[in-house]
Amino acid sequence: MLYKIEVIMEDNYHQLVELISEKSGVAKSEIERRIEAKQAKLAGLISKAGAAQIIAAELNINFDKQIIKISQIVPGMKKINLVGKIIDLFPIREYNKNGRSGRIASFVLADETSNTRVVLWDENHINLIDKGEVNSGDVIEILNGTLRNGEIHLASFSEIKISEKTINQVVVERPVIKKEIVAFNTNDNVMARAFILQMFEPRFFEICPECKRKINELKECNSHGKVIAERRALINFVIDDGSDSIRAVAFSEAIEKLMKKEELENPELFLLKKQELLGKEVLVSGQVRKNSMFNNNEFIVNDIKDVDISKLIEELER
Ligand SMILES: [Zn+2]
Repeated sequence: MLYKIEVIMEDNYHQLVELISEKSGVAKSEIERRIEAKQAKLAGLISKAGAAQIIAAELNINFDKQIIKISQIVPGMKKINLVGKIIDLFPIREYNKNGRSGRIASFVLADETSNTRVVLWDENHINLIDKGEVNSGDVIEILNGTLRNGEIHLASFSEIKISEKTINQVVVERPVIKKEIVAFNTNDNVMARAFILQMFEPRFFEICPECKRKINELKECNSHGKVIAERRALINFVIDDGSDSIRAVAFSEAIEKLMKKEELENPELFLLKKQELLGKEVLVSGQVRKNSMFNNNEFIVNDIKDVDISKLIEELER
């Protein structure tokens, strides 16, 4: 199945222009001029990044054979070659979907510019991880990767091998990727544009102001003893973007983006606010976590924004 995916890659576009300039010797301003002209000629049918790739091809730059930086990856690139360090190696999983079954491995690959999740589908590649020949902390080279849902996927025609290179400083902060909910993966740092479908009553709990962990009924922290507790809230709600729905969990800081403190604390005001929020379209960002109790994914929300119509129009025009 193909998912429509928008990746926040405005920065990557600039990186790409730089790369084209570097490889071709043509000034950046001239390359940007050509990209804009190409985009205009194609009547806005392609993105800036897409136009940039056409210009690159016209300048005889072939990315298929080049090792690029993770920040230079843009949608539409084929055969992506990277060198990076594995900073997070996830357990190998088994899948069984639509009569097909197999194993899947994944890790986060980082270089000096950014990082990305890499997904392995080929048994030969998965065995490298299974047998410990490729480990967390290793610098590896990837050839012929494909960009899918903002991640690099490796198939049987792809290659993965230990690199001789050393990388000292890598970017470990996870970039936020805009995805459809159906494409969410555990550990993703993602943003979705979705409707609030359902909202449950807030729950309140108390934490230690020092270590932010839950305290017991005697208002004691396991590490800090008797403390003046901080009251915190959490709300469960369901979001849906048409591709799928997911249960979202928001804590105090994120909830405050949705409603005032009084609306959270007062049940009647909460009900009124809830009526107003149901059906509202929002931009939600956070992390996808595995809920071990229900064995499904949930979305830990750290920011909620109104869908800004003018911004969206701008985005569509680009
Ligand atoms: Zn404490």
